[in-house]
Amino acid sequence: MVEPILKVEDIHKAYGKTEVLRGVSLHVLPGEVIVIIGPSGTGKSTLLRCINLLTPPDKGRVWLEGVEVTDKATDINKVRERIGMVFQDFNLFNHLTALQNVRLALIKVKGMPVKEATDKAMMELEKVGLGDKADNYPAELSGGQKQRVAIARSLAMEPKVMLFDEPTSALDPELIGEVLEVMQNLAEEGMTMLIVSHEMGFAREVADRIIFLEGGVVVEDGPPEQLFTKPQHPRTREFLHKLTELYGEHAESRTRRRRR
Ligand code: ADP
Repeated sequence: MVEPILKVEDIHKAYGKTEVLRGVSLHVLPGEVIVIIGPSGTGKSTLLRCINLLTPPDKGRVWLEGVEVTDKATDINKVRERIGMVFQDFNLFNHLTALQNVRLALIKVKGMPVKEATDKAMMELEKVGLGDKADNYPAELSGGQKQRVAIARSLAMEPKVMLFDEPTSALDPELIGEVLEVMQNLAEEGMTMLIVSHEMGFAREVADRIIFLEGGVVVEDGPPEQLFTKPQHPRTREFLHKLTELYGEHAESRTRRRRR
C-alpha cells in the first residue's frame, strides 16, 4: 500500500467563537492532485494554512512524509521548505526583479551560492514560460505573469507538496488560462497538489479527487466524475447547482471571484 505523503487528522480551528474548521481529516497520496471546493468563508483557506502552520490549528495533527508537522519538536521552518504555497495575491517583493524574487530563499534559506541560485531561478522561470521576464519587476508584469513568478519561486525550493490558495481568483479572465496551464503541467509531472479553486473546468480535468468542504467539515470526497455527475450528498448537489446558476454551464471560464 502506498503511504500518504500528507496526512491531516481532525483539524479544528476557531476564531473567537466562530468555529471555522470542525474536525477535518484527509490523506493525500504522492502525486495526487486534490481540488478543494466549497462556499466562500467555509474554511478552505484556513485549512491550507493549518497544514503548514501559517495558522496554527487549535486541535488535530498534520504529517508530511511521516513527520508530524504539528509536533512541537519539529522544526517548522524545515517543514515549510518542503511545502510550497501559492497565494491569491502573489506575495512577491515589489522591489525585487522576477529573478531576484525566485532566488531569494535559495540564497537566504537554503544557503545556495549566488551563481547556483541564479541558474536554478532562471531554470524555474523558463519552466513557467518567463525566461524573458527575469529582469522585470512585478509592476512590469501582468497578474498572470506575477502568479507564474510566484509558482516558480515555490518550485525552486523543490517542495514535496504544493498548496494553492485560489491562485487565479485575482486575475482577469484572459490571464487565468496561462496559470492553470502551468499548474496542469505540474500535475502531469507528478507534483502532489492541494488546490483551493472555483475553476470547475480545471478541477474536472486535472483533479484526482475533489473535496467539498462546507461548514468546517468535509461533506464529500471523491473523484471528479462522481462529484460532478452523481454527488452523494444533497449539500454537494446544491452547491454545484448554485455555481451553475451563477456562472452558467461553462462555469470554468467565468468563475472569477474577487475576495478583496
Ligand atoms: P474560505 O477560504 O473558504 O473562503 P476562510 O478560511 O478564508 O474561508 O475563512 C473562514 C472563516 O474564518 C471566515 O468567516 C473568515 O472571516 C474567518 N477568518 C479567516 N481568517 C481569520 C482571521 N485571521 N481572524 C478572524 N477570522 C478569520
